[in-house]
Amino acid sequence: MKKLLGYFVLMTMIIVILPLIIVRGCSTVITDIVPEDDNKEEQKQEQKKEQTKAGEIKIKVYIKDRDIVEEMPLEEYIKGVVAAEMPVDFEPEALKAQAVAARTYAYGRMKKIYTPADDIHNGADICTDSAHCQAWIKKEDALKKWESSKASANWKKIEKAVLETEGQILLYENRVVNPVFHSNSGGMTENSEDVWEGTVVPYLKSVVSEGEEASEGYEVETEFKKEDIVKKLKAQYPDIKVSKESLFDEIEILERTEAGRVKSMKIGDKTLKGTEFRSLLGLRSTNFSIENIDDSRLKITTIGYGHGVGMSQWGANYRAEQGDSYEEILKYYYQGVYIDSIEDLEFILDSKHN
Ligand SMILES: [Zn+2]
Repeated sequence: MKKLLGYFVLMTMIIVILPLIIVRGCSTVITDIVPEDDNKEEQKQEQKKEQTKAGEIKIKVYIKDRDIVEEMPLEEYIKGVVAAEMPVDFEPEALKAQAVAARTYAYGRMKKIYTPADDIHNGADICTDSAHCQAWIKKEDALKKWESSKASANWKKIEKAVLETEGQILLYENRVVNPVFHSNSGGMTENSEDVWEGTVVPYLKSVVSEGEEASEGYEVETEFKKEDIVKKLKAQYPDIKVSKESLFDEIEILERTEAGRVKSMKIGDKTLKGTEFRSLLGLRSTNFSIENIDDSRLKITTIGYGHGVGMSQWGANYRAEQGDSYEEILKYYYQGVYIDSIEDLEFILDSKHN
């Protein structure tokens, strides 16, 4: 009887329990083939790629005139920059060049590559002050500023320029560049070190910038009262020795840059940089000449608009009219750079980090 019971137990084990063990064993083996950790790692990588898709990157923008910080998709922000920084009737390739330059600048700010000397961003990555970062306009405001019959087509044109360059930024020797730009250079852009002392940047070199004569305000004459100039000089430099009677004779241009801008000048007993004189009088550029009108007035003629370093927006438009692509335009004004995508860069940075 005991034997029979033993046989029964053994048979039960073979028929019922053994297959259970085998099945469990199999499932364990299957799990072992794909190690749990690797599986998670793969998921993590996929997740990261998802997160770094250019369309999903967000930027914090300090909107100066409303004194608020707003977070928005980077690509949406770039549309507002192109709309604010460039005339919408410019060539599509010029708008695309502007989109890539603006995106590179914004990305550089997000990654703290160009640290602002003064923190006026209230914790944001970038601000909408063109004198500090780059201009930006809200879509609704851009639509209002254009003729109503053209507004919607204008916005579509800007959207297209941004979309066709989505996620693209400029690099120089594997580093994100600082793609400064200006309205028009006056025929020749500047070496960065001639405008910002001691700042030698290999891709910010002086190049001929053709076709800018067509731009609005290429050459501008402005009259100044000598009295006002002396007042401003004394407010800025209290110890300066200069009088309005002899002002014209006391101004001497000491040095001009390769592109013809005033690098240094002397007024009375004081030596000033061209950039200092420009900001003192709010001149359009440092490419200026001074004439005497009469005892009380001077005439200052400026050529070009902006600091003159990097890409000239009007020059970019001219090159686009001549058939250059946005890539050719960018490589002309920022010599030695190349285009890469944020996605690629984030992936490289991430692999290095791991
Ligand atoms: Zn700023």
